[in-house]
Amino acid sequence: MARRVTRARKGGVQTATLIPGDGIGPEVIDSAVQVIEAAGGRIAWDVQLAGKAAFERLGTAIPDALLASFRRTRVGLKGPLETQVGRAGYRSVSVALRKMFDLYANVRPVRTLPGVRGAFAGVDLIVVRENTEDLYSGIEHQIAPGVVESVKVITARASRRIAEYAFQLARRERRRKVVAIHKANIMKLSDGLFLACARQVALRYPRVKYEELIVDNACMQLVRRPAEFDVLVLENLYGDIVSDLCAGLVGGLGLVPGANVGKRHALFEAVHGTAPDIAGKNLANPLAAIMSGAKLLRHVGQKQAAGRIERAVERLLRQGRVRTRDLGGRATTRAVTEGLIALLH
Ligand code: ATP
Repeated sequence: MARRVTRARKGGVQTATLIPGDGIGPEVIDSAVQVIEAAGGRIAWDVQLAGKAAFERLGTAIPDALLASFRRTRVGLKGPLETQVGRAGYRSVSVALRKMFDLYANVRPVRTLPGVRGAFAGVDLIVVRENTEDLYSGIEHQIAPGVVESVKVITARASRRIAEYAFQLARRERRRKVVAIHKANIMKLSDGLFLACARQVALRYPRVKYEELIVDNACMQLVRRPAEFDVLVLENLYGDIVSDLCAGLVGGLGLVPGANVGKRHALFEAVHGTAPDIAGKNLANPLAAIMSGAKLLRHVGQKQAAGRIERAVERLLRQGRVRTRDLGGRATTRAVTEGLIALLH
């Protein structure tokens, strides 16, 4: 279970690593920093480059200074980082960070917010995705010309640990049910092991209901009756896909925050990517990054500031006057930031 960071610094100020990131990252992270400060969050940011921005300036996508900062602060807010698809030897920086700091749980709360057109009503679920193995092990090779093998690695240790995380979260947040999502009918050994571990863990939490769903059926049920889901626990690849699907249920990627949590470290980030199509245009929806910042504040014990931000986001969306394009409005990133700050109290 993640240990909460309680080491408040001088005057109750928490030091945290800040990674602006690539694409729309700098815009939405700047917005989050402004809102956190206006809400009374006491954070001293240690700004660090990573990804493409770091590669261009420092010749490496994961600078030592970034690793040293996060090792020290143990908590961070991160913008999306660009991964160059298919370039040999260039692995995703986000995946590398998760592995290096063993940020084994990717947690994405997906909730219907007021006034969002096209969103399903009453959705309030949490996707808990295993973050360190599966097809993301990075083991791929060509066995003969035209034949490539990618290795899916599932271990009992990681499966038990993520199931344990999901059940503890369910208990802590008074959730009623955990559903393990799998494809054990086809991948009998790997997904079979994942399920066996989840079942074992479930036995120790008799007050939390436990169910299992095959991933294709889970997707169908999710788009038909999303309000019936509660906590979902998944391997890495299914978790990646299903969490974007869940974001779509409540209005899209611009609204869903996330956290990568390990035993000692926690890195908060929005679910969305770098959105190169709108980068640098002041069009990105900053709410997911802002709500990730609110999660960070909660994590370090600054609950009042976090609550102020969460309430202001609800109010802003309910009023419906200031919305970015992805939510059917015309407002800029800056206008949303200013509108939100005006609603903080
Ligand atoms: P990456 O490779 O970094 O994941 P991508 O473009 O494949 O980038 P996303 O960045 O998640 O994936 O974007 C998917 C779509 O959603 C794009 O059309 C993008 O403009 C839109 N989008 C993502 N995030 C936001 C946001 N915060 N505000 C508005 N639109 C967004």
